[in-house]
This record gives sequence, C-alpha cells and structure tokens, in this order.
Amino acid sequence: MADPFLSIQHVEKSFGATKVVHDFNLDVEAGEFVSFLGPSGCGKTTVLRMVAGFEEPSAGHILVGGKDITRLRPNQRNIGMVFQAYALFPNLTVAQNIGFGLRVAGASRADIDKRVAEMLALISLPQMADRYPYQLSGGQQQRIALARALAPKPKLLLLDEPLSALDAKVRVSLREEIRSIQKELGITTIFVTHDQEEALSISDRIAVMYGGKAEQVGAPFEIYNRPATRFVANFVGTLNVLEGTVTDASAGTVRVASQDVALKGKLDGSRTGDTLSLALRPEAIALGARPGHDSKLAGEIADVHFLGSVIRVRVGVGGKQISLDTFNNSSTPPPVVGDKTEISFSSGDVLVLH
Ligand code: ATP
Repeated sequence: MADPFLSIQHVEKSFGATKVVHDFNLDVEAGEFVSFLGPSGCGKTTVLRMVAGFEEPSAGHILVGGKDITRLRPNQRNIGMVFQAYALFPNLTVAQNIGFGLRVAGASRADIDKRVAEMLALISLPQMADRYPYQLSGGQQQRIALARALAPKPKLLLLDEPLSALDAKVRVSLREEIRSIQKELGITTIFVTHDQEEALSISDRIAVMYGGKAEQVGAPFEIYNRPATRFVANFVGTLNVLEGTVTDASAGTVRVASQDVALKGKLDGSRTGDTLSLALRPEAIALGARPGHDSKLAGEIADVHFLGSVIRVRVGVGGKQISLDTFNNSSTPPPVVGDKTEISFSSGDVLVLH
C-alpha cells in the first residue's frame, strides 16, 4: 500500500488536567473523504483543529505527505478549512471573500480574478461575484466559504460541521455537491459531523469517535453492518437489542423473552448459560415468514407508524418492543395494533454484542 497522505499518530490532547483526546491514530489516503462521526463532546473538532494547527497536540505527531507538520503554524500548512458558521467577511464581496487567501499570499490581480471565476463556476454561483454575504442564503454562503477554502489549492480540506446550520433540504443537496466537488478535485478531505446519515452517505471511510478515541474506522457499509463495539452499534442506525441466555451452545440456541431462538454459527466462543445481547437492525426483521429467515419469535403488534415508503412497526415480544421496517405496498393493508404476529429474521443478520 502507498504511504498515507495524512497520518495522525498517537495524538493526545489535554486541556488543563482533562484529557479529551486519547491516543488517536488514523491514516488517510490521498483523495480520500473521511468523516469523524460521534456525539457532542467526543473530541472530533479538537482532532480537526490539531490537524489545522489551531491546537497543539499534548503528544503524538501529524504528518502530511510524509512531512511532520505537528509544530507548524496554521498558515504554513496549506490546509483549507470550512466552519459551521459560514465565517465570511461581511464587508467583502463574494469575489473578494473567495480571493482573500490568494491576495494575502501576494498573487497578482489577474491570477486572483481567474481563480475566483473558476471557483464560482465550480460551486455553480457564477452570477454572485459582486454580492455581499448578507444578500445570500445560508446554503449559498456555505458554498462561498467552500470556494474560499479551495481557492488557494490546499493539499487538505477540513470541514467542521459545515452543514449543521442549514435546513434539512439544503443540507442534503449541499452534502452531495460537496462530495462531487471533492471527487472532481481529488482533494483529501476530513468532514466532522454528528449526523450518522450524513457520514454514511458521503464518506469513503468513517472514524466513529467516542470519549476522545476512535472506536472504529471503516467504510460506511462495514461500520453499519459490522459494528466493532456496542457504542458503534448503537450510535450508527437504529438497533434492537435483546438480552438472551445461551441454552445450548453446541446447538446454537439462545433463550430470548421466554422463547428459544436458533442462531446457527453465531455462538462461537460462547458457553451454555452465558448471557449475551443480540442486536438486529429494523430492516433485517420481517413480519411473518420470509425465505431465508431461519429464526422467529412470537409477538403482538404494539405500534404502527406510516412513514410513506416504509412502515415502521413495533412488535411486543415478552415485554420488550422490537422495531421493524416493512416496505409500503398500496395493495396490502398496514398491520393492526393488538394482532398476534410472528417476526422472522436470518440468524446471519444478528449481531452478537458481548
Ligand atoms: P461538538 O460536536 O459538540 O462540537 P466535538 O466532538 O467536536 O463536539 P470537541 O469540541 O472536540 O468535541 O470537545 C471535546 C472536549 O474538549 C469537550 O469536553 C470540550 O468541552 C473540551 N474542550 C474543547 N476545547 C476546549 C478548550 N479550549 N478548553 C477546555 N476544554 C475544551
């Protein structure tokens, strides 16, 4: 494998006596789009600010292109950054905002004008050059902030929750635009978010963070389908968790809510009598039987939420409610609360959390 473009090695950060980042390690390939995903206060922004040079690590090293940049000042790093609050200069026009970094670097007027025009075309706002930030929508301001960050041709792009101040529709369209611009330029990017859907939809890889540590780093498919820890399993997507006791380890049966469930090939390393948590995504569970589903539980419809294309159903199983999603089908009436039912799933889809 080629050397990583960005390498964060054993980085730690303390504020006073409080350590907020613990032995953080991450290698990012050139051109990769990596998200830091985690709850508020887990240290995402602090790691990003150390890469940008706004915070100094208490320990560890940060390398870009094989060169140690840990002690370089922000303006020596050639890194572009976009913040949550658009942070445009209110007294400068759009063109002046985009050209700001080039002007500070001493570029010629002709070069600045050419680059500003290129950037306005890239973000599809060619008519906006002479406007002021207050004359733009939030989404447009954030696109200008992106153009301003990209204008000096940085080696690395850092995005700190750039979409969280925008309304839902703009957020989705802008995240797609950011991703397509990132691919077009091939620029290595780190994107901080606490929104799991956002991270799943645009990242090559996600670093899920909790308590100042990277809990798991992997592609969205891997993070969602094979969460490495209980935290990742719960934080990313909706998850049903059922406590069970192994009734026969060799036969692969677990007692859940007073019913025996067969879990072929899932109990390696478990012994009869062990307690386990079994986790299942709503979309892995069917109402009634389904081909390929080798496990089932009896229950009762407790709640039905019509969400349009999907119906989310809660089924009571031995005092516990299990959420499942069924696709809406206009010729099949929705389930009725109080009806007895059976839910089924494939034992292959069960995550066993120890
Ligand atoms: P959010 O999504 O809320 O921004 P985050 O995951 O980005 O959260 P950080 O902003 O990195 O989290 O903060 C991590 C921890 O470090 C928090 O407990 C925060 O209070 C603390 N912290 C951050 N900056 C400072 C500082 N300058 N001085 C003291 N504590 C700080």
